[in-house]
Amino acid sequence: MFLISDLCVILESYLEKNEVEAIYQAYLFGAEAHEGQTRKSGEPFIYHPIAVARILAEMRMDCKTIVAAILHDVIEDTETGKETIAEAFGNEVADIVDGLTKLEHLNFNTKAEAKAESFRKLVLAMVQDIRVILIKLADRLHNMRTLGVMTAKKSRRIASETLEIYAPIANRLGMNNIRHELEDLGFQAYNPMRYRILKESVEKVRGNRKEIVNKIQQAIQNRLDEEKIISKVLGREKHIYSVYKKMRKKHLPFSEVFDVYAFRIIVESVDQCYRVLGVVHNLYKPVPGRFKDYVALPKNNGYQSLHSVVYSPYGVPIEIQIRTDEMHKVAEQGIAAHWAYKTNENDGEVLSQTRAREWLKNLLDIQKNAGDSIEFLENVKIDLFPDEVYVFTPKGKIMQLPRNSTAVDFAYAVHTDVGNTCVGVKIDSQLMPLNTVLCNGQTVEVMTAKGARPNPSWLNFVFTVKARSGIRNTLKNLKKEEAIILGRRLLVKCLNKAGSSLEKIPQQRIDDILAEYKLDSIDELLYKIGLGNRIPQLVARRLLPKEVVDSAIACRTDNAGRPLAIKGTEGTVVSYARCCHPLPGDDILAYMSSGRGIVIHTKDCPNSGEYLKRPEKWVDIEWSNEVSGDFSVGLRILAEHKRGVLATVASIISEQEANIEHVETMERESNYTFLDFLLSVRDRKHLADIIRQLRLSEMVVKIQRT
Ligand code: MN
Repeated sequence: MFLISDLCVILESYLEKNEVEAIYQAYLFGAEAHEGQTRKSGEPFIYHPIAVARILAEMRMDCKTIVAAILHDVIEDTETGKETIAEAFGNEVADIVDGLTKLEHLNFNTKAEAKAESFRKLVLAMVQDIRVILIKLADRLHNMRTLGVMTAKKSRRIASETLEIYAPIANRLGMNNIRHELEDLGFQAYNPMRYRILKESVEKVRGNRKEIVNKIQQAIQNRLDEEKIISKVLGREKHIYSVYKKMRKKHLPFSEVFDVYAFRIIVESVDQCYRVLGVVHNLYKPVPGRFKDYVALPKNNGYQSLHSVVYSPYGVPIEIQIRTDEMHKVAEQGIAAHWAYKTNENDGEVLSQTRAREWLKNLLDIQKNAGDSIEFLENVKIDLFPDEVYVFTPKGKIMQLPRNSTAVDFAYAVHTDVGNTCVGVKIDSQLMPLNTVLCNGQTVEVMTAKGARPNPSWLNFVFTVKARSGIRNTLKNLKKEEAIILGRRLLVKCLNKAGSSLEKIPQQRIDDILAEYKLDSIDELLYKIGLGNRIPQLVARRLLPKEVVDSAIACRTDNAGRPLAIKGTEGTVVSYARCCHPLPGDDILAYMSSGRGIVIHTKDCPNSGEYLKRPEKWVDIEWSNEVSGDFSVGLRILAEHKRGVLATVASIISEQEANIEHVETMERESNYTFLDFLLSVRDRKHLADIIRQLRLSEMVVKIQRT
């Protein structure tokens, strides 16, 4: 059993006295919080966080990391909240523990469709402080070491998550020691049979080869000693999972994968690495094309070494790795190696911090993350994927979006049709506005309605190109369809007035006119009419035979035929003027505006006089009997200046089932106030009902439509 006193012995070897004391306080705090809880194995729960802290202490992590490690399950598993931890141990520790709790809630296995790669990114993206990951990996490692007590099914689930998510993250951070152990434990739990067979084979081969390995090791060591190079020559053992992976990937039998001797030579300086290489190549002939210089060109997880393969006198090739102590430490511990607490004052703290920063920069492709060096080691806030955000669909699929994406961007990312018909969104089961900016790890559910259409105002907040062009294209296509329908109605109306119809016009005549207008189809002509770019009366005149025109012209002035009926469902090609806000029931007039289609005003609108001067632009219209939709209308209310007057008026309006689009208040005198509303109502009668109800209120003095 590993006790807190054992942990303190390790801590005292590299931390200050007061730091060890702080960690002991964390232990007392954690032990009390977890009091009465036990692990599956039956031992008190607190042994688990102590064991996690031990793994990190062996990597010489700083005091706050160890404190957070001891408290890592406190928020998740006890009544204690983040604030309490912050009070006792500071915000930094509380933030780390809180970050771990959030990670705990991400369950890879319940998100059936989640791709391991994006899930790994999600895990990293959720972390503000890289120490959260280091503790998480240590936590996972201890859980894997003690997996035996779980049921086979549960073990397998945890093992697959370890192999798919956590071992690759350890690899990404260069932490090979942890990675190899996670992989072997994961493989053992996931596939116990294969693991056992492979393990036995490996041990057997090792036994058989022991003598030869010793001979080669001694030969290399002797030669290096002769050259007076201080070095350690070590036999290198491949871990079982990597043997297994290589067999599977390259379809090789065990004997071939294992058919190589491997050695590692550790020296004191970079210069010596190259000297050792020369010595080894002198001793044994190198295999052409197998030399790799990862010292000059490190791997992207920071790994450095010289690799070479040479021919041995025993017929089996020898793999050689040559590296310095420093490189060795980085190869085993990765990012944690740079975190290690510096005991040696002369180590040049600034230098090592700078180096750590450089390393991280290369490692994570971080563009700029300077700050000062002390802050870097104290509290590294790195955003590993600063430009991306990861969210889930309700089925658990991960969607990767650019940062700042909104719910509408998500809808379009799922499918253009989903975007076009979306009417609402639930984020983590809560109804939210469509312009909500998404955060990592949220589950987003889009609600759609048949026949719904994108709102042009979405263009003000969408972030992705896909959403933006989706909205634009859809609106454009809709406008085109609507314009064609309107154009047809307008043209047919004029033809009818002359006692004709589109069907009665000979095709040849239509084709001639289209050629004259340089248009390819009748739809294009109707589109131009609907948009107000061609005047339907003039087109009708051109289409009709001359004698018909002479006898029955002037579609707009005579009373033959009913005016065009406005139903409110025409879409974007019919608009209602903002100066007078016409309502169904109002006397209206309309004109064709180039590119916009029909614009409707009230007859008494002050602007209508201007348009009366251009009669060719008029359209004869009326409200249909079956008008539908919501129409905007302005209402100015003079009311007593009293507390709650706005709330009272607004509630009367909403009781009448009208929406308030906008409201402004303006104090007139001390006793009175103006309330300017923009409402959306069904028609004139609806508005009259609202006004009637408003008049009943004692506070309302005067009401005026604006
Ligand atoms: Mn834990």
